[in-house]
Amino acid sequence: CGIVGYIGEQDSKEILLKGLERLEYRGYDSAGIAVRNGDGIKVFKEKGRIADLRGVVEESTTGNTGIGHTRWATHGKPSKVNAHPHQNTSDRFTIVHNGVIENYHHIQRDYLGDVEMESDTDTEIIVQLIGKFVENGQTTQEAFSEALKLMKGSYAIALLDADEEQTIYVAKNKSPLLVGLGDSFNVVASDAMAMLQVTDQFVELMDKEVVIVKKDSVQILTLEGEEVTREPFKAEIDM
Ligand code: GLU
Repeated sequence: CGIVGYIGEQDSKEILLKGLERLEYRGYDSAGIAVRNGDGIKVFKEKGRIADLRGVVEESTTGNTGIGHTRWATHGKPSKVNAHPHQNTSDRFTIVHNGVIENYHHIQRDYLGDVEMESDTDTEIIVQLIGKFVENGQTTQEAFSEALKLMKGSYAIALLDADEEQTIYVAKNKSPLLVGLGDSFNVVASDAMAMLQVTDQFVELMDKEVVIVKKDSVQILTLEGEEVTREPFKAEIDM
């Protein structure tokens, strides 16, 4: 299973799909992508292989921002509905997640009693929680940090906000996740291999950092909001 993301000036679709194909070796049962453009966020997902996902992705939909996911089901059977990306009820927020949210049940009970879930995944709880916090007046960044503070377990996460075209929110805990740096674009990947076709410069992320990825910048913050500086490294992998 794995995660990819792209934010820049090109159409993200093919970069995401290629990235997911390069993560196929990690194993998965379903896959999906979300693409952001001027009309909003469009989600495509399918059970099975990346080739099956390619079959449902509309050629005509383009977007300079996108996230992608291969799923290895832990909560909820492998199916199209349980495949990622997941959205909150209003569809404003879209998330991909690898890992397991151990306390998702408590979060659902304490914060989301009135929210009807579409899937059986632990992942949907996170995106619904962020949606709820924003409904209650928090900014997306505040809601994202707040959710990270509450969540127990392992995760690599990428989040899109339909109201904010130029940002991917990223975080990890005990699951691998890197940010790749480009010229007028940046990418996100579980493994540098997934994005070597576009860059070999990567920044490692530490557990529970709040990472704000835009096409010209990557901002890393601690959960307490302190800015972190970290130099990129060069990924040397033979393709
Ligand atoms: N726990 C999540 C799910 O079952 C993510 C699984 C994964 O790592 O792909 O949907």
